[in-house]
Amino acid sequence: MSHEGIRISSPEEMAREAEAEHPLPRIAITPEKVRVLITEGKGLEIDWADGHRSAWNFAWLRNACPCATCVDERKQQGRKTGQPKAKSAELLPMYTPPSKPASAHAVGRYALQFNWQDGHSGGIYSWEYLRRVCQCRECTFAAEETAGAPN
Ligand SMILES: [Zn+2]
Ligand SMILES: [Zn+2]
Repeated sequence: MSHEGIRISSPEEMAREAEAEHPLPRIAITPEKVRVLITEGKGLEIDWADGHRSAWNFAWLRNACPCATCVDERKQQGRKTGQPKAKSAELLPMYTPPSKPASAHAVGRYALQFNWQDGHSGGIYSWEYLRRVCQCRECTFAAEETAGAPN
């Protein structure tokens, strides 16, 4: 009797499955206005075609990088999307400036890519991903109920 190995889905595969199960309407993932407030150091703001508005600060976005390396790292450290790394008390206190991209640019018509000041630029933030991680009250309400508020 032989068993097939248990297939372990990667977080990305699971996210893809979730996306397939609950597709978002096209207008919910079509940005009408995209503001990347680099000079102000604020973050990213998107007005969606369905009238919804989203905003994220850069630190949150850096900690929500959707590249495989960062997804893996968060999984290993038990961090949620957007949750910063725990600061170890054993390390010498060092000032770490808040994350900010040096630049940002569109990837085709479906995503945004940031060139972070720490040199990282592997994450492709698709409109769909961004809409799914919207941090507005409305969208985070259900998550807060079960998992506690972010920050
Ligand atoms: Zn990354
Ligand atoms: Zn929202």
